[in-house]
Amino acid sequence: MRIYLDSDADLGLLQGRRIAVIGYGNQGRAQALNLRDSGLDVVVGNRDDIYAKHARADGFHVSPINVATAQAQVVLLLIPDEVTPVVFEARIATQLLPQSLLVFASGYSVAFEQLTLPSQVDVGLLAPRMIGAGVRDLYVTGEGFPAFVGVAQDISGQTLPLVLALAKGIGATRRGVVPVTFAQEAELDLFTEQCFGPAFGAVLTTSINLLLNAGYPPEAVLLELYMSGEFAYTLRKIAELGLVEQAALHSRTSQYGSMSRGLRFQIPELRERLRAGLEEIRNGTFAREWAAEQAEGAPTLAMLRAQAQEMPLYQLEQELREALGSIAAASPSTQSQSSSELSRRGPWSMLRAGIARCLQRLRRPRHPRSTPPTPRDRPPSEAPTPSEAPTPSLTSPLSDGQLRRTLQTFLENASCDPMLQAFAAGRHVTTYYRFTDVDLAFSLGFHDGHVVGSLGNETEAQVQLTLASITLDSMLTGTLSPVRAALSGEIVFDGDPRLAMTVQRIQKDLVRLYSQARRQVLQGSDNA
Ligand code: NDP
Repeated sequence: MRIYLDSDADLGLLQGRRIAVIGYGNQGRAQALNLRDSGLDVVVGNRDDIYAKHARADGFHVSPINVATAQAQVVLLLIPDEVTPVVFEARIATQLLPQSLLVFASGYSVAFEQLTLPSQVDVGLLAPRMIGAGVRDLYVTGEGFPAFVGVAQDISGQTLPLVLALAKGIGATRRGVVPVTFAQEAELDLFTEQCFGPAFGAVLTTSINLLLNAGYPPEAVLLELYMSGEFAYTLRKIAELGLVEQAALHSRTSQYGSMSRGLRFQIPELRERLRAGLEEIRNGTFAREWAAEQAEGAPTLAMLRAQAQEMPLYQLEQELREALGSIAAASPSTQSQSSSELSRRGPWSMLRAGIARCLQRLRRPRHPRSTPPTPRDRPPSEAPTPSEAPTPSLTSPLSDGQLRRTLQTFLENASCDPMLQAFAAGRHVTTYYRFTDVDLAFSLGFHDGHVVGSLGNETEAQVQLTLASITLDSMLTGTLSPVRAALSGEIVFDGDPRLAMTVQRIQKDLVRLYSQARRQVLQGSDNA
């Protein structure tokens, strides 16, 4: 195990070398201030806007990115990864002084070959394992924070000592600096974001839904699981003491319960999904997908963000947070703000009303029984005319046979629907739907202007959805958003998320065709 500390780094190596910090955002500001406070010569390169203004207010000399680059022996690239390739090619690559040191704070652009490195410069990595605010705060307190360091090009033979000196300058060697390759840094970072984090998020949201549906008070559920901060505190203790040692901080009941029940959650499928996610990162699939998504203006990201904000759970959280904030604001010292709704109704009643609204949304049956007036409810003068004859409700549950016939009709109609054919032009995407409760599966594909649907198994689909038949029925009758169903775990999703989101564009047409088919089948059943 190799960990570099203060004693392994020599700040003197940076004396006489000007450092240009490119970008003055989260990391840029924190690192620039720390390096200057460590006695180094720091300038800032930024566009002349609000960030530049902040840098000047902090006493830095600010110049355009190309100018700052051309004046420095060390260049720290601290702009967002998604803009790095373009900014680098346009304003940095040709301005770098020969023998200078170029330092990235993330391995992404180099590891996934998003840019071409000039051959005459050293290239290093200094990636704090800490957000920008923490980089500054923990430098000021003297505690420091961990970081990864690496070397991609070593022309001078001095790259690692220089990067370690920078690590010391920002305060990282006080805690410990770990050597990695650019690829390792980027892949670990993406794995945390794409696999570890979402898997944990799924456990959290599944638990919340389960407990709410079991009738526990929502404010108690959210506080218990994470909003009290107890869980975050435990994580801090795990970081400080280790997974096993921190167990001593919990009761013996807790220790026995979590260790004995923990065995039940060693699920092979979880490991398989994490492994598949890692593979997608390592073979560059994710980097290519993200580059293509950005080239189109990130429509999938926008759609996912919007859908996440519509989740009932998100809204419940907002209501709780606001209500809890209102309660804090209604402390004796601030209760004189009497004009607000808060003072009229009281914070707890607002909290309860908000929670009741959210719970209603969370618990609303996705397949509500319809209650059209029966003939007996109508006054005689309102007897239905033949054209008004009751049509089968979209919300009556389907038998397995009806579902099969509905899907058959839906797929037949879809294959000759002009709207779907127009959507299929220039595309190649097949979605495979597999039911968890009915022995049935089907696929719907869009290929070069042709719509191809069939019942049965499909192995070549780019998007695979595993779901209960009632979930599909709710989605295709328009009572449940597919993205919401996926985000809340009602659909197990596999495959290409961008292609899946593309199919969202014809959701209305799918609902139209499925609902028509469903009505036809139910009418046929009624007439039979
Ligand atoms: P920020 O989003 O905070 O960067 C903002 C800065 O980038 C501003 O100065 C902004 O200036 C500049 N910028 C943004 N777009 C452009 C553009 N198109 N052209 C030129 N300048 C631009 O980034 P972070 O500090 O979060 O991240 C910087 C690097 O640090 C990344 O490589 C990241 O992976 C890494 N990192 C980040 C961590 C974090 O916690 N944030 C942790 C560890 C590493 P303006 O818009 O005015 O041009």
